[in-house]
Amino acid sequence: MAGYRDWIDKERLTEILRDLVRIPSVNPGFPDGHGEAEVARYVKSFFEELGLKAEMQPVEAGRDNVIGTLPGAGDAHLLLEAHMDTVQTAGMSVDPFGAAVKDGRLYGRGACDTKASLAAMLAAVETLARRGAVPAANVHVAAVVDEEIMYRGVAKLAEHIEGGRLRYDAAIVGEPTNLNVIVAHKGVVRCHIDVHGVAAHSSTPESGVNAIEHMAELVLYLKRMAQTELPAMLHPLTGAPTLCISMIQGASLRTR
Ligand SMILES: [Zn+2]
Repeated sequence: MAGYRDWIDKERLTEILRDLVRIPSVNPGFPDGHGEAEVARYVKSFFEELGLKAEMQPVEAGRDNVIGTLPGAGDAHLLLEAHMDTVQTAGMSVDPFGAAVKDGRLYGRGACDTKASLAAMLAAVETLARRGAVPAANVHVAAVVDEEIMYRGVAKLAEHIEGGRLRYDAAIVGEPTNLNVIVAHKGVVRCHIDVHGVAAHSSTPESGVNAIEHMAELVLYLKRMAQTELPAMLHPLTGAPTLCISMIQGASLRTR
C-alpha cells in the first residue's frame, strides 16, 4: 500500500529510534547489562500518550513484556513483535547510546538489532492513530525481553497464546533481514556429551580407559555423520542442517 508508506514521517521515525537507542537495554545476562525496564516504560507510555492501551506482561523480576494495541475494525488480530534487549557494548567504536546520525545511518547498540524494528512498528501505530485511520485488523505490538540470551520474553508470550489467553491470526517478527521477508529459519539443538573413562597412571595406559581418545572418535563420527547424512535433509528455504562442535574439555580427575 504505497499510500500508507507515504504517511510515515521519516524524521519522526528517526526520533523514535533515537529515543530507543539512547535508553540502554543490554540484556542483564551480559556483564554490563541494564535490563529492558526503561524501554518497556517508554513503549507503554508511547501507547498511552496516543490514548491506546498497553499492558505489561511480567516475565521475571523487573523484566516485563509490553503489549500495546491499536484497535481495528474487524475481529482479526495481527501481532507485531520485537525484542527490547540488546547484546553488550564491549569493543564498540561508536558511543553505544549516542544514536549519532551520519550519512543517513543511525549508530548505536541495538540501532539495527532490533530497535529499528520496534521504532518502525511504533511509528506505524502512531501514524495510523494520529490520522484516525482504523486498520482492518486489531494491531498488537509486543515488545519483549531477553531475546539475546534465553528468549524468556517470547516464550512467555507463546505460553499465553498456547493457553488461549491471547489470540493472534498472524505475526510479523522484527529482526535485521536487509528488508527481506523471511518466512522460515533454522532451529537449534544443543547437546552436551560426557565420555567417562577409567583413570590409570600415564605410564600404564593399558590398565585404564582413555576418555579423551573415545571422545576423539566420537567427534570424528559426528563429523562423518554430518557430511554424509545432513546434506540429504534439505529444506527448500533454509537448506541443510549443519553441525558445529564448539567446545571440548577433558582431563583425568585422578591418577594412581
Ligand atoms: Zn535481534
